This record gives sequence, C-alpha cells and structure tokens, in this order.
Amino acid sequence: MRVFIACLGTETNTFSPLPTGWETFRETMLFHNGEKATNHEPMLFSEPLHVWRSEAESRGWDVVESVAAFAQPAGVCIKSVYEGLRDELLRDLEAAMPVDIALINMHGAMVADGYLDCEGDILQRVRAIVGPDRVVGGELDLHCSITGEMVRAADALITFKEYPHIDAPHRAKELFALCADAAAGKTKPVMARYDCRMINTWRTPFEPTRSFVDKLQSLEGKDGILSISFAHGFPWGDVPEASAKILVVSDGDEAKAAALAETLGKEVWAMRAATAMAPRDMNDILEEAAGHNKGPVVIADTSDNAGGGAPSDATFLLAAALEKGLTGIATGLYWDPTAVRFCEEAGEGANLDLRIGGKVGKASGMPLDLRVHVKKILHNAEQTFGTSTNPLGTAVWLQIDGDIDLVLNTQRTQVFHPDAFTKLGIDLSAKRMVFVKSSQHFYAGFNPIAEAVLYCATPGAIAPHYGAIPFKTFTQPYWPKVENPFG
Ligand SMILES: [Zn+2]
Repeated sequence: MRVFIACLGTETNTFSPLPTGWETFRETMLFHNGEKATNHEPMLFSEPLHVWRSEAESRGWDVVESVAAFAQPAGVCIKSVYEGLRDELLRDLEAAMPVDIALINMHGAMVADGYLDCEGDILQRVRAIVGPDRVVGGELDLHCSITGEMVRAADALITFKEYPHIDAPHRAKELFALCADAAAGKTKPVMARYDCRMINTWRTPFEPTRSFVDKLQSLEGKDGILSISFAHGFPWGDVPEASAKILVVSDGDEAKAAALAETLGKEVWAMRAATAMAPRDMNDILEEAAGHNKGPVVIADTSDNAGGGAPSDATFLLAAALEKGLTGIATGLYWDPTAVRFCEEAGEGANLDLRIGGKVGKASGMPLDLRVHVKKILHNAEQTFGTSTNPLGTAVWLQIDGDIDLVLNTQRTQVFHPDAFTKLGIDLSAKRMVFVKSSQHFYAGFNPIAEAVLYCATPGAIAPHYGAIPFKTFTQPYWPKVENPFG
C-alpha cells in the first residue's frame, strides 16, 4: 500500500483585520519544498502526520509526505498563499500516484479570498487526482464547518472530539485504521450529516457535553457505525454552513448514518439550555475572584483568544483589574512585538515606561502606559500543549509594582499551559489570580493548579454573544439568535 499524507489549514475568523499570509504560516508551521514535518518535533497540527507515518511504516507501507502548513488563526487567507500551498500539495500527489490512501489534516474552517470552503476545494481536487476507487480521508478540528462538498469528496472525515483538543493523535490513528480497512476492501465508508442549527461553545470536560462525547465513542465500532463526529462549528467564520453538525460514517449504509446523525443532533439540541454558558461580565468575575483566598483563580479572557483569530493584545481585563487596585496577578500572553523590542533594548533589570497592548484594532481596547521592570527575556520560548511543544517567539516577563506579572511575546498565540509563565521564572502558586488569553485549551494544564477556573466575557474580538455575531454569508436561522430555528 502507498499512503499520501499532508496538512494544510487554519481557522479563519472572517471578522478579523489580521491578514493570513506567508508570514503567519512560516511563524506557525510551514514544511514544504521537500522538507518533512515528521523529521521535526510534533506540533498540534503536525501530530497526525507523525501518527500516519508511523502507522503506515509499522505495516511496511510506503509513505509520501507533502506540505505541512498551518497558520495561527487570523483573518481571511491571501488567495495566492492558499493557492500556492494547495497546488504544491496537489502536484506532490500527482507525482506520488498511484496512491491507495490520501490522508489530509485540515482545520475545517479555512477561508481564503475567493474560497469560502477551502477544505471542500482541497478534497474535491484530491479526489479528482486519485479517482473514485482510492480512499480519501480528512482529519478536522472540531471547530469546523462540514460542508456538502467535503462529504461528497472524501470517504471519511473525523473531527477532534475533545475541547481542549488533546485528542488529535487519537483521532489520527482512528482515521488511519478506518481508511486502511476501506483500502483493503473490508469496509465501504459512507457519510451523512445532520445540521443542529446551533452556534455555541461546548467545553467537553463539563457535563452534559462530557457524557455526550463518551456516548459517541461508545457507539463507534459496532452495528456498522465506523465513526461519529460532533463538529461544533466555528462561530466567527461567516460561511454558508457555519452551524454545528453531527457527522456519522457508517459501513455502506447511508440511511443508517443519516438516522443516527439526526438522533444525536436532536440530543445536542435537547441539551442546549444546559450547555449554553451565559457570558459573564469581567467586573463580576473579578469580584468573585477577589473573594477567593487560596488562589490562584484562573480567569480565561475568552474574547481575546488568538486561537479564535483574536489579536491577543487586548487590555480590557488588565485595565479593569488595575482600576480596582487588585494585586497578586499573572497575565499573558500579550502579543506585542514592539514592546518586546523596547524591553530587549533596555535589557533585563531595566525599569522603563512602556506602552502595552491595544495596538491591533478596536477589539484590542486602549493601550496601557505602565512603569515596568524587565525581569526576564527568553528567546525561542515555548509552551506545552498535550504532547506537543509550541513556540512563543521571544517572551518577556514584566513586573508592575513588584506584584503584577505580565508576559509579552512576539509570536501571536493563546496560552496553552502554565509553562508559558513558569519557564520565565514566574511562580503561579504565589498568585491570587492568573489571567490567560484562551477560550478553553488552557484548561487541561491550568485546572490542576487552579483554586477555581472562571470564564470571562471581556469586550473584544470573539466575545461569546453568539446571537449577535454580524453574519452576512451565513443566513440560516440558528439558535440562540432565534428560539427555534426548526420552526
Ligand atoms: Zn478548535
């Protein structure tokens, strides 16, 4: 058997003013022109390639590895950049033919100039090259829009099941096994999806979502059901099929897949009240946090999560805390290459007046002018996420009044793990509060050290007011914008 593997993706916040071009791919992950991602340490979106290579090689199969490109979520992708990467992938595939299986790791919410459904475009072109009898499989982030074009072009699609996304390698292994069985003629995967007509955030460690995900897993691998994905959708992608879907892959029985997808989709609908997390204002959250006495209370600044295409330089929460005179705070990661540059010029140990954050756009709020002490500068800083290591660029630990610690960095990314702070020398256990710019990926790493975890709906780029997102392209009725989108 011969297996072709590649990765091309990003999560496009179509409302973001940040363009997604070569620089963002280069900075996040870009292996091409014959350079293989699997010769390097796994990162979140290259991990599936590592899994697919080792699965194939352990069976003595041939592997052809193409592009591995992923961009930190931002705005619409530049057309020539998307087409350049896509066409490189397709040229490599043509050159690798005949292949038995093509496996593509994508996000599922990528939009480029002229392409509202990049994944549908990629899969349909891959299908055109390999022909109808070879197996095409795709792995997707669960914050994806599963379109009709994607389902028609691929044999099997599998999304992550967990949010935080700690299961990318597990889903990669499942997709490999599913596609290997199909290529061997043991199964004939067919897919059906059900539109839940909902826009929401479902955090999988919490009930009732936890039990629902466990149930999906318990239904797989029997009664002809090969795989079930709950595609949550990406709220800030204004695309025609933005809403959450259930996707079922069955062995040759499309009607069965469709019936199960509908049953499960109705369960998601039925638990809408229990899974809707009412947005909480930052003043309420800070008041609650100040009432805890052990600490640290970890506060997620969900609206400024770079992982959702937000700038990661918003100042709203820190400004509110400073105004209230709160102390004992660590906060990060502020994407501010200019401020980092000034800190590098001044050097460790320097005291200076520094303008921090508030630079990218309206959603960043106003910059803060603060007197800071430069405690530590770390080049090529990194943070952990699951089993992967992820770059921060240059990170700087700043102190205000000896009691508020800020981390600024040069590579825009959300906070995944406490080591984004501790590798600089910050002792989080001594803090009363830790503010992290992240919606949920921080949870796996921070929950074990937190007295409490609170989710804060700061003003900002991706504030969780789902009924008020100014969609233009997505015109279907959806909850919570309307009470009953099925009516
Ligand atoms: Zn995601």
